[in-house]
Amino acid sequence: MDFSVKGKCVIFSAPSGAGKTTIVHHLLAQNIGLEFSVSACSRDPRPNEIDGKDYYFLGVEKFKYKIKEDAFVEWEEVYKDNFYGTLKSEVERIWRNGNSVIFDVDVIGGLNLKKIFDENALAVFVEPPSVEELENRLRGRSTETEDKITQRLAKAREEISFSDQFDSILINDTLDTACAEAEVLVKKFLHTT
Ligand code: ADP
Ligand code: 5GP
Repeated sequence: MDFSVKGKCVIFSAPSGAGKTTIVHHLLAQNIGLEFSVSACSRDPRPNEIDGKDYYFLGVEKFKYKIKEDAFVEWEEVYKDNFYGTLKSEVERIWRNGNSVIFDVDVIGGLNLKKIFDENALAVFVEPPSVEELENRLRGRSTETEDKITQRLAKAREEISFSDQFDSILINDTLDTACAEAEVLVKKFLHTT
C-alpha cells in the first residue's frame, strides 16, 4: 500500500468486551505521540459515542460505496450486517501530523494490519482472564442486546485461538496493571523500533 509519508502504528485487538477500548483511551491520554485511527462502521452510534470521534457512522449504503471507492486499508463484516473498516485517509492524516497510529480493530483486522505494516507495526492481543469474565464485562457495559451478547461471546472463543499470532498478549485482569503493561510495551516500540 502506497503512503507518501510512512510512520509507525500500534494495533490493539481483542474479543468484544475484553477492554481494548478502555486501554486504548488510557494510552491516548498519556500524550506519547499516538493518534487514534477513527474507523468507519455501519452500525448506529451508542448513546455516548460521537460521529467522527469514536467512528464515522456511515450506515450500510455509504459503507459499501467506500468499499467501491477503494477507501479502506482493510474492512471486515465483523458481525452479520455490521461492517467496520480502517480508512486510508486516517492513516495518512496521522502520519502527516508526525504521529503514530493506534488502531482498535477486531482480531482478523488486526492480523491483516500487521501483515500490511509489518515491522512498522506492534500488534497487541488483549486477552480477558476468562470467557466468564468477558461475559460479565459485556453485560456490565449494557450496550448490547441479549442477541448481540450471544453473538459476541460465540465469536470470542474463536478469536482467542488467534492470540499467539500477535506480537504480544496482554492479559487484562486488573485494569491498572494492564494499562501500565500496555504503556511499557508501546513506549518501548515507539522509541526503539
Ligand atoms: P472492548 O473495547 O474490548 O469491547 P471495553 O473497553 O468497552 O472493551 O470494556 C468492556 C467493559 O469492561 C467496559 O464496561 C469496561 O469499563 C470494563 N472493563 C475494562 N477492563 C476491565 C477490567 N480490567 N476489569 C473490569 N472491568 C473492565
Ligand atoms: P464495537 O461495535 O463494539 O464498537 O466494535 C466491534 C468490533 O469491531 C470490535 O472488535 C472493534 O475493535 C472492531 N473494529 C472497530 N473498527 C474496526 C476496523 O476498522 N476494522 C476492523 N476489522 N474491525 C474494527
